[in-house]
Order: sequence, then structure tokens, then C-alpha cells
Amino acid sequence: MEKTKIQWTEATWNPWHGCKKVSPGCKFCYMYRDKDRYGQDPTMILKSKTMFGQPLKWKDPQLIFTCSWSDWFIEEADAWRNEAWEIIRKTPQHTYQILTKRPERIKDNLPDFFNELNNVWIGVSVESQEQVNRIAYLNDLDCITFASFEPLIGEINWDENMNKLDWSIIGGESGNDIGKFRYRPMELEWAEKLINASVKNNVKCFVKQLGTYQANILKLKDRHGGNIDEWEQKFQIRQFPDKKLGTINTTKGQLTLF
Ligand code: SF4
Repeated sequence: MEKTKIQWTEATWNPWHGCKKVSPGCKFCYMYRDKDRYGQDPTMILKSKTMFGQPLKWKDPQLIFTCSWSDWFIEEADAWRNEAWEIIRKTPQHTYQILTKRPERIKDNLPDFFNELNNVWIGVSVESQEQVNRIAYLNDLDCITFASFEPLIGEINWDENMNKLDWSIIGGESGNDIGKFRYRPMELEWAEKLINASVKNNVKCFVKQLGTYQANILKLKDRHGGNIDEWEQKFQIRQFPDKKLGTINTTKGQLTLF
């Protein structure tokens, strides 16, 4: 099992890894940072020999962030994706959270049996107003849909398409003060605006982290959202979508937060 520190999931599954940057949110991609550390080329998209079939071996239900080191819908993985969809079909005990920055490729890359699945959530990353149009690609999908406003690098105006979401994730960027992998500021007002709009429109909301910029200003001890008691109460919100689909109970109380 690939454990993770990402608080809105339980495990990660990377049937392939490596990616190409597509928008400003990718600037300080953690996969690039980690591959850099291992001396690997992050732009090489490779099928994983060891991880590909892993979920078949996990008996206990897991909430799985799928492709945390790539993008499920990346073109270079077209040859492998059907086999990966089959694994999802064969493991109804798990819930797969698929987050993409390539939403224009969703429709053409769903399997014929997609509507039979009840264990897939699909979401898009929206780092600033410029990427809000990605959400429209989720509108007609028959599954739980979500938007990850992380790293939030600009103010975002709520719109009607967002009302149809099941879930919003909000987070500032984390990174270093020096070197190649830095961070951009997230203003607390931007996060507050999204929280309020989510609550008002009945979209479940999860604040993941306030980001390094705010962690410095607020002198937070845990800089990655590990202790939300350090935050002002209005930011202490960690909800999950209602269990209208899927086999795992995703209420906060029943999830193990790492
Ligand atoms: S899409 Fe995701 S994994 Fe790919 S470069 Fe951008 S941030 Fe990294």
C-alpha cells in the first residue's frame, strides 16, 4: 500500500508516472521535485511495472488518489488506460479519486462500462480564474465530481458550473524559499471566498493547507495542514462528499487521516 500524507485521501496508486506541464499550477509540481531528487527525468511517462496491478492486492477498501505522479488522462498513457480501467472495475471495494488538468480528454477516454462503475470520482485542478472553464467538462459525468483549488494562486469567482460539484478542495502552495521549487502566495480572502461559496451552494469542502506563504506569516508549526487547530476557525473545514456513490464511507470520522 502506498501511504500518503495528502489528507483528503488514504492511499495513492500510480499505474504510470511522469508528466508534462500544462498550466501555471504545474510550475512547482511535487512530482518534478521528487524525480529531480532521484535524478530521474519527470517528463518521461512510464508504465509502472511494480505498481500497475497493486489495487488488486489491497483487500481492505481504500480511498485512492489515482495518478498522483502523473495525469490519468495524459495522451502518453492512452495505450495503458483501458487495462487500468479494468483494474478499477475489478476492485469495487476501492474508491478512485481521479484528478486531471486535461479535462478536454475525459469524454473520449472513459470506458464503455463507465456508467456501471460506482467507485470513481473525477475532478479537475483549478488554480486561478483562468482554469475555471475546466469545470464545465465535469457537468454531465455520472459520478462524484470535484475541483481542487490547489495551489490557489489567484482569486476565483464562483459560477453556476461550480454549484454542480460534489466537492471542493482548497489549498495554498507549499515550497521552498530558495532553489528551484518555491511557492506562490495564497491570500486568505481567496480561500475564504471559496469556502463560503461551497457551503452556501451545498458543495462539500475540504481545506487542505494554507500554504507556505501563510505558514510563514502565521508562524504555523505544521506547515502542511497537519494540525488544523492552528488555523482560524473559519478555515477548519474538512468535509467529504456524501456517500451517494461508492463503497467506502468517506465521512471525516471514518477516514484515517495521515
Ligand atoms: S499535470 Fe500534475 S503531475 Fe502533471 S506536471 Fe502538472 S502538476 Fe505535475
